[in-house]
Amino acid sequence: MIDVNKIRSDFPILSRKVNGQDLVYFDNAATSQTPTQVIDVIIDYYSRLNSNIHRGVHKLSQEATEAYEIARIKIQKHFNAAKPYEIILTSGTTEGINLIASGYSNLLKPKDELIISAMEHHSNIVPWQMLCEKTGAYLKVIPMTLEGTLNMKAFGELLNKKTKLVFINHVSNALGTVNPIVEIINKAHANDAYVLIDGAQACPHIKPDLQALDVDFYVTSAHKLCGPTGVGMLYGKAELLKLLPPYQGGGEMISTVTFEKTTYADLPHKFEAGTPNIAGVIAFGAALDYMNDIGFDSIAKYENELLNYATDSLQKIDGMKIYGEAHNKTAVISFNVGKIHPYDLGSILDQLGIAVRTGHHCAQPIMDFFEIPGTVRASFSFYNTFEEIDRFIAGVDKAAGMLQ
Ligand SMILES: *Cc1c(COP(=O)(O)O)cnc(C)c1O
Repeated sequence: MIDVNKIRSDFPILSRKVNGQDLVYFDNAATSQTPTQVIDVIIDYYSRLNSNIHRGVHKLSQEATEAYEIARIKIQKHFNAAKPYEIILTSGTTEGINLIASGYSNLLKPKDELIISAMEHHSNIVPWQMLCEKTGAYLKVIPMTLEGTLNMKAFGELLNKKTKLVFINHVSNALGTVNPIVEIINKAHANDAYVLIDGAQACPHIKPDLQALDVDFYVTSAHKLCGPTGVGMLYGKAELLKLLPPYQGGGEMISTVTFEKTTYADLPHKFEAGTPNIAGVIAFGAALDYMNDIGFDSIAKYENELLNYATDSLQKIDGMKIYGEAHNKTAVISFNVGKIHPYDLGSILDQLGIAVRTGHHCAQPIMDFFEIPGTVRASFSFYNTFEEIDRFIAGVDKAAGMLQ
């Protein structure tokens, strides 16, 4: 059970006023808010531990290194990876995808095929296009249905002996659709292709078991699950990560350096060049603790109630069109009202203290598919309330009256 009043008292920003009104924060799919339990870890790090990790003989460095490696193990346990060194700490989802794309530039041949879907975030499209330009491989796209799900029959037809890699988001940030990744992974493996799952939008709502999924690579960002910005993780099966060359050269990723030849460090350090976001990684661990204390089952159940309540109420508004009507979706609602431009609607909501996102949500191909310039997107978290949804619905109703 979610005790939402108690939870809200953990988030200082939720008691802020915006334009003279109590803030209603419905932009959780872009970034989530940060509880005191996580903010305190960052303050504590800079107040007590700050030093560089892994290289120091002194006490501060040892303590900071220990806290950093404990966070890695927390992340490993949370996602149920087999080994801590299969968790590469990155600056976020975008960097994790670029790391894999850049690594495969040596391993692909011209005319190899890669598969993505029509509902990817730009960060899971552009790195693969760049990889195709470098290698001469082709990018194939799984089409979407009108209700905002993947056409799985078409996926089966795209797979063939030339398919090397498949990249799909676990949950679409623009539509909320939960994709059938078990089926995707199994079909790809039956075809000897590897799979990378972009979990940025799934991890705030779902706790993935990476060994059970048998997925090859999985990436996510801390800032969407109550952690700080600029931190994330890339999971990869050890035997696959070992085949990839380092992503960046620098300190920490080497074993020995001479001007004749440099040898690289083992996993995970081979992929962690330079001084990382130490406080951020430790805070990522604290964010996972915080969310696990509440429990992902309770979070999913409560958010689903918010989603159903908001969907039912929105549908009563004249001219309402919701994009993304998959049976299995997270608490994201993308919509338009009549011919009103999403930006105009979003601006009026902002005047009322209600934060939503408007535009293409870094997923332009989805907007092209629906032949719209963009949508208004409201996305809920476990710290949102039914009263906030009432205020939001009244705001949309008012804005629609003014603009139509
Ligand atoms: C947010 C998001 C990303 C990008 O995450 P960054 O933290 O900006 O790297 C990628 N994919 C999806 C599905 C997202 O929701």
